[in-house]
Amino acid sequence: MYAKPDSNTMTTRIARAEDAMDAALKSLSYRLTETEDSRMTPKTPDAPRPNGAASLNGMRNDNAPTLAPVPVPAPEIAPEIAPLPSSAKRTPEAIATGRPSREEAEAAVRTLLRWAGDDPNREGLRDTPARVVKAYGQLFGGYEQDADKLLERVFEEVEGYSDIVLVRDIPFYSHCEHHMVPFMGLAHIAYYPTKGVVGLSKLARVVDTFARRLQTQETMTAQIADVIESILKPRGIAVMVEAEHLCMAMRGVQKAGVSTITTQFRGAFRNDPNEQVRFLTLVRNKP
Ligand SMILES: [Zn+2]
Repeated sequence: MYAKPDSNTMTTRIARAEDAMDAALKSLSYRLTETEDSRMTPKTPDAPRPNGAASLNGMRNDNAPTLAPVPVPAPEIAPEIAPLPSSAKRTPEAIATGRPSREEAEAAVRTLLRWAGDDPNREGLRDTPARVVKAYGQLFGGYEQDADKLLERVFEEVEGYSDIVLVRDIPFYSHCEHHMVPFMGLAHIAYYPTKGVVGLSKLARVVDTFARRLQTQETMTAQIADVIESILKPRGIAVMVEAEHLCMAMRGVQKAGVSTITTQFRGAFRNDPNEQVRFLTLVRNKP
């Protein structure tokens, strides 16, 4: 009882470019957003400066102590404040705090190109920052997606079917959160339905949603199990992810062909080793 995932279902819509590369800039934007909010409220000249502005001043003063007495005028920092995307409400908390503009993201790519030792102005690289930022919209489009919503539609009329539902060999491509280097492989998901089943392609899209974020394989495996557990309330759920991490193959220990396997067993699968054996047998025994 399984289905090969349809490759079309793995295609996510292109989302807004996400500059996941620059966490520091994110937190800066967050502080600046606070500053903007507090500027909305009229203040007396003697009012204490909001925390964000105070720490900004602190940073600048460290570099140029002689400028210390001059307060930084508010308009100077305004252009750095990226507007909240309208989709922010349905995104994970992490990016609901404002994000840099496309121009800022492209500038960051140019900086990394220079850091790598190349010239961002040479012909072959001139359009690369724009292409990278556009690609990020797809590679990290999972931040714009809500995995809960994918599983909203539960089919309850399954003629009493309550045995295992297994979707195996779901291909995915993700990026490790430590090096932002790809890791890719296959996910296998099984559950024992209680209140109904979901469309099989939805499970593949759940995998896709979590894969298109910066991840660790362990976290991704648990997130897949968590969302299926919370929506479907199955009698048991098993998730296995096997992947090759390019950050291991291309850098560090430089070992290619090593696969990492992570599993999550919940409910019946956790309590009964025979259920785990059944799951692993179904995953491994291919026709
Ligand atoms: Zn890594």
